[in-house]
Amino acid sequence: MDTTPFLRMSGVRKRYGGVTALAGADFAADAGTVHAVLGPNGSGKSTLLKVLTGVVAPDAGEVLLDGRPLRPRGPRDTLAAGVSAVYQELSLIDDFTVLDNLVLGVEPARFGLRDLRAARSRALPWLERFAPAFGGRVPAGERTGGLDPGERQVVEICKALVRDPRVLVLDEATASLRRGQVEVLFEVLAELREQGVLILFITHRLAEILALCDRATVMRNGADTATVTVGEVPERELVELMSGAAAPAS
Ligand code: ADP
Ligand code: MG
Repeated sequence: MDTTPFLRMSGVRKRYGGVTALAGADFAADAGTVHAVLGPNGSGKSTLLKVLTGVVAPDAGEVLLDGRPLRPRGPRDTLAAGVSAVYQELSLIDDFTVLDNLVLGVEPARFGLRDLRAARSRALPWLERFAPAFGGRVPAGERTGGLDPGERQVVEICKALVRDPRVLVLDEATASLRRGQVEVLFEVLAELREQGVLILFITHRLAEILALCDRATVMRNGADTATVTVGEVPERELVELMSGAAAPAS
């Protein structure tokens, strides 16, 4: 049996000046799963996933994706490797239409106008899929700045999906969503998991972990302290792991 995980990060370290964001974190996750990354604010969740996506260059450590070392010089390299992310920081340009925001990064200078058209025709079905999250409409031609915060966040998510990821990182992406929007998102994520996509899901909401996640890794002070199978630990223990109230059972 092949037990090599699809994604493995080992010994990842990162300091920002005097602040240690990652102190030797290890992380592994399988394709076709939704893997939660939990832990209090400042525990290093976002930095860990930014090392994966190439936004942050680690001081030490290694990332293996599908058995190959990933040494990105930036997010462009990881996009090419099939890693796509929604960050906590917003990335949309208000004055662009929704559709143009979705194809940002697919630059005409590098890829040609034909690729831009192809990107637009790949993007539109995602907006159609998420129509229930936009009150039933498809806001392709609308000015992005005119959308409400939940709708803008759905556009951020569509933007990551248009890249057709093998690994999709969602960093607290549900925080500004309404319940109906989360429902559509979870349907889509379940479909992607079925297709073998690895979804890395940062959240502070227990209900979302229980509804969606297969495994969960808990971060504390820049390191992983536990990885559990969600269905195998009592809810109470999950809550304690999330809040830092309990040391993980070994
Ligand atoms: P989390 O996502 O779990 O809240 P982060 O990875 O954002 O944690 O942050 C981990 C630590 O690194 C925190 O102490 C945070 O203040 C610090 N940190 C994160 N990004 C930066 C940055 N760009 N510059 C300086 N410190 C940072
Ligand atoms: Mg964070």
